[in-house]
Amino acid sequence: MVHMTPAETGTRGVETMPDGEVRVEPFDRFNQELVANVHPAGWVNPEPRERYHLVVIGAGTAGLVTASIAAGLGARVALVERYLMGGDCLNVGCVPSKGIISAARSWQTAAESGRRFGGPAVSGPGDFGEVMARMRRLRAGLSRIDGAPRFRDLGVDVFLGEGRFTGRDSVTVGGRALRFRRAVIATGARAAVPPIPGIETTEYLTNETIFGLTELPRRLTVIGAGPIGCELAQAFARLGSAVTVLDRGAQILPREDADAARIVERAMESHGVRLLHAAAVVRAEMRGGARVIRVQIAGRAEEIAGDALLVATGRAPNVEHLGLEAAGVTYSPRGVGVNDRFRTSNPRVFAVGDICSKYQFTHAADATARLVVANALFFGLGGGKASSLVMPWATYTTPEVAHVGMTAADATAAGHRAQTITVPLHDVDRAVLDGQEDGFLRVLLKQGSDRILGATLVAEHAGDMIGEIALAITAGVGIGRIGSTIHPYPTQAEVFRKAADAWRRTKLTPGAKRAFRTFFRLMG
Ligand SMILES: Cc1cc2nc3c(=O)[nH]c(=O)nc-3n(C[C@H](O)[C@H](O)[C@H](O)COP(=O)(O)OP(=O)(O)OC[C@H]3O[C@@H](n4cnc5c(N)ncnc54)[C@H](O)[C@@H]3O)c2cc1C
Repeated sequence: MVHMTPAETGTRGVETMPDGEVRVEPFDRFNQELVANVHPAGWVNPEPRERYHLVVIGAGTAGLVTASIAAGLGARVALVERYLMGGDCLNVGCVPSKGIISAARSWQTAAESGRRFGGPAVSGPGDFGEVMARMRRLRAGLSRIDGAPRFRDLGVDVFLGEGRFTGRDSVTVGGRALRFRRAVIATGARAAVPPIPGIETTEYLTNETIFGLTELPRRLTVIGAGPIGCELAQAFARLGSAVTVLDRGAQILPREDADAARIVERAMESHGVRLLHAAAVVRAEMRGGARVIRVQIAGRAEEIAGDALLVATGRAPNVEHLGLEAAGVTYSPRGVGVNDRFRTSNPRVFAVGDICSKYQFTHAADATARLVVANALFFGLGGGKASSLVMPWATYTTPEVAHVGMTAADATAAGHRAQTITVPLHDVDRAVLDGQEDGFLRVLLKQGSDRILGATLVAEHAGDMIGEIALAITAGVGIGRIGSTIHPYPTQAEVFRKAADAWRRTKLTPGAKRAFRTFFRLMG
């Protein structure tokens, strides 16, 4: 596998051979199939057209969706990718992480089946190499859809190489100039590595390299307790690593509801993860083959030794080497600056996806790419604004945490008075029967109405379930209508109806209750 050192940051776990071919380690038949789709050996860039309606830089989700929609509408489109088409999601993000998480969940279920369900006793180590091979096989299978040959067949001119603006209406790739009427920057983000003393001489992994592992690290140290750190820490613990997570704050998943984070933390600890809060990383070093991290916790020094170290401390936008100055596009350490319609400071140039969004998710990249085509090519007709999007998200720990809409703090900042309804999952029969009652639904309603402002759900499959609330907010459907929608029994989705019932009960004023009591007394 490829160990990434800071000097190589940006190589994304991809090795470029002297002949320009790329390899993704381990370069087995699955990764060969992957590369044959997403960066085929011997790919010949097309002859550039005189001028493109749209040049898209970056072929992750944002760039692929932008290019395919525009080409489907008949525009002349060039798509430029320097490493692997499919970007982070396919190669080093959602796809490989969820492949591993799904294996880890199934290992855990098997291991607990005897103790919790009277099932057959399962013990002994599993085959981590097989988990990773399965993930690589599935990733390779999914890669065709994002691949260069398919995009060529869709009518897109695919250029493999680094794209760089040379002026306000031109990009260069592989020494060839691409002139455009409009361009979309979709260059995404990469793992940000903090300046920890000694890190430059310490072998570490990021999301760009961890999916190349073929052997389970006996001890894994994870720096960072955001979604990526927590998902992978829990998965590796379930697969058998002794995992320590160093969290600089007091709460894991800092964007989430504190009660939700506490439930996930409990679950992680029950799966053997050691979580250290308020841990300030002081130094990293190699010692006898181990990665040793020195931390300060409440004034006390501690050393954590691991056989692998995962840095999951956040993301940095890919703004370097793009010639943004030449294009007149302003940017900051947070990414490319855009207005509500994704337009940059150069009116010909737009940006979508992780490079400019506060929502760094594949579905956010997809949703904004759908809007940017119309904003860029059709003067906004049929397009839309970032601020109009109702954006759900999910963290795929066990249990999952999903959120949509406002948090209580957002509601206060927006001047709303809000009512909160919380339904614990132990009130939902199916969650009890499944043995998954450690979770809840919390809905935020506009005070005095049934309008849903936001919701957080902690449940085994919260990511799948949150769509119901996302639809309700998008369509302006209140909690009252959700309550009168029949949900099959027994399902965990009944939690939504129960929230509506709870809301209805709060509408029963003391006066109404007195009136009902009088009515029934008179009835005899
Ligand atoms: C471990 C992990 C797990 C994740 N899990 C989920 C999940 O479960 N659900 C979810 O919704 N999101 C998830 N995400 C986030 C998701 O992967 C990103 O939000 C998504 O990939 C963003 O898409 P994008 O197109 O904006 O950027 P990217 O996918 O990063 O694509 C940008 C592309 O631009 C290319 N590029 C950059 N500069 C240049 C240049 N100068 N010239 C040519 N090409 C260039 C890059 O090589 C890259 O291929 C996860 C991320 C990680 C890291």
